[in-house]
Amino acid sequence: MQSDAFVFMGGTFDPIHNGHLRTALEIRQWMGVEQVCLIPSKTPVHRAEPGRTSEQRFEMVRLAVAGENELCADDREISSVKASYSLYTLQSLRQEMGADRPICMVMGMDSYQTLTQWYEWERFTDYAHLIVVKRPGYEQPKDQLLTQFTNQHKVECLAEVLSQPAGKVLFHELTPLGISATQIRETIARGESPRYLFPDAVWQYIQDNRLYGLTN
Ligand code: ATP
Ligand code: MG
Repeated sequence: MQSDAFVFMGGTFDPIHNGHLRTALEIRQWMGVEQVCLIPSKTPVHRAEPGRTSEQRFEMVRLAVAGENELCADDREISSVKASYSLYTLQSLRQEMGADRPICMVMGMDSYQTLTQWYEWERFTDYAHLIVVKRPGYEQPKDQLLTQFTNQHKVECLAEVLSQPAGKVLFHELTPLGISATQIRETIARGESPRYLFPDAVWQYIQDNRLYGLTN
């Protein structure tokens, strides 16, 4: 099935890794869209500010997708004067895409579990569908408010998502990859090699710019 849906994945990407990249690539194939966009957030609103600048995190995403036509990096959040709230991103995307084009926001189960803490989260489905990807170690949320929201919006098949511009929640299982940016930061801090968890170009950039506490 081919679709003109706009599909994106937001995140801190501190740093981007193969869990993000493989997820985005498999989502692209499964949804039949031309590309999946990765949109790094400017200032993380749900956690402490990381030590890397927005520009550095964006640059790592850019390097990771360079030469990969199926993925792209989008700087709309980091270059916006507004705070990095997903709601604002969804509003800006909806304005750009017009009223009818499906917009899909991809997130891992861990992010979905925290959804009720996001700014104006109940309005997300006014602008987009939520595609929730299972992530090793994270189960379906048990929170009452979120369960109610899930039951209200959940659909079982992709066709229901692609046939309308917004409003649905779809869970999907892909190749499970237990990689996290936290694991990569800890690996580097221990002085161990993080290779093969993310693209070599990203590791080279980290070394060249002495990120994550690297001293030599
Ligand atoms: P951190 O450990 O710093 O939280 P992270 O690995 O969770 O980093 P984020 O930038 O927080 O990466 O995640 C961006 C998005 O990608 C989130 O929606 C998250 O759920 C999803 N994601 C991250 N890693 C994976 C993975 N291995 N498999 C599936 N989804 C993932
Ligand atoms: Mg995370």
